[in-house]
Amino acid sequence: MQLPVMHDETRVTTLGRDPQRHHGIVNPPVYHASTILFPNLAAYDAPRTRDGYYYGRYGTPTTRALAEAVAGIEGGDFSLIVGSGKTAITTVLLGLTKAGDHILVTDSAYQPTRGFANGVLRRFGVETTYYDPRIGAGIAELIRPNTRLVFTESPGSLTFEVQDIPAIAEAAHAEGVPVVMDNTWAAGLYFKPFEHGVDVSIQAATKYIVGHSDVMMGTITATEALRAPIQDASNELAGAPGPDDCYLALRGLRTMATRLAQHQASGIQLAEWLEARPEVEAVLHPALPSHPDHALWRRDFSGSSGLFAFRLGAVSRTALAAMLDHLELFGMGASWGGYESLLIPTAPGKIRTAVPWPYEGQMLRIHVGLEHPDDLIRDLDAGFARLNAAS
Ligand SMILES: *Cc1c(COP(=O)(O)O)cnc(C)c1O
Repeated sequence: MQLPVMHDETRVTTLGRDPQRHHGIVNPPVYHASTILFPNLAAYDAPRTRDGYYYGRYGTPTTRALAEAVAGIEGGDFSLIVGSGKTAITTVLLGLTKAGDHILVTDSAYQPTRGFANGVLRRFGVETTYYDPRIGAGIAELIRPNTRLVFTESPGSLTFEVQDIPAIAEAAHAEGVPVVMDNTWAAGLYFKPFEHGVDVSIQAATKYIVGHSDVMMGTITATEALRAPIQDASNELAGAPGPDDCYLALRGLRTMATRLAQHQASGIQLAEWLEARPEVEAVLHPALPSHPDHALWRRDFSGSSGLFAFRLGAVSRTALAAMLDHLELFGMGASWGGYESLLIPTAPGKIRTAVPWPYEGQMLRIHVGLEHPDDLIRDLDAGFARLNAAS
């Protein structure tokens, strides 16, 4: 369904569905499939696809509906749907490299991205250099003849540096090197990767697309020029998601623009409240004027989601436990992007290698969910009171 002018609110509600093809039913049906039957030998022999389908592992109309919607929202030429955000990352990294190659990865990347580079990629003869997320055009100096991609993530996981993606893309493209971006934070809505020079955009759909903390899923969106190696790697790695999960992701997508607007508003309200707390040394939220990359964020992003970080001074584990253990609304656990709020301690100092993390204080990562922000503030306020009493 292609409309001439579409806002994102319209894209998320219309793309990837065609009720008139399904008896007028609003949502696309869920196709469960392994075997796909061919009517005769000629059809089986020939290009061996049936409307583009030939075996469940390579996708069904349900997978394709989701892929079509995601490609339209991110603005890429095509999308692939895989079983998790991490699978999206590993598929792209394996698809674009071979033994003897070199890749550049931002020091602020999601930690499991580093895990794959330092483990499987290294074993298979691919070398990784981590670079300062704020390197911008300086990335040119790190590009070697065998560099096959620049991996970016903006804002960075845990530390929220905003990267100068256009400057990185210009420098990388001058050497014929594609730019890959983990675009999970902006959910394909608040940052348009292909308008800023990105060649491959990855999302953990597990987060905002699914939006309800009940499905693992990843998306890979790319330009036509990179379709063959990425599609090939995805076929070989064969991590196809199930149709029910694709259906849930499509259902989540329909409300994503509306949910994200609320995550944004509540997130900023909590960030400002936290910034005024005496216990808080810094709030790392790109939409705050105090953020070092605020100007860059304003230039390239059209909004902010509900995930950010803040830093306390040195606190004992006991005092931290007093704060975190008795929160009523904030849960403690991995992932984010659901309707519920989360608060976890993090330790970027243990992860970074290119730019050592210079702060001693306790870092916390917060996901602001869809509860009323006043209730969330009350919960945090009581948490700070317990922290202070235990310090
Ligand atoms: C969660 C996350 C991933 C991985 O997604 P999964 O679906 O959990 O595998 C990748 N990148 C970022 C930035 C994430 O937060």
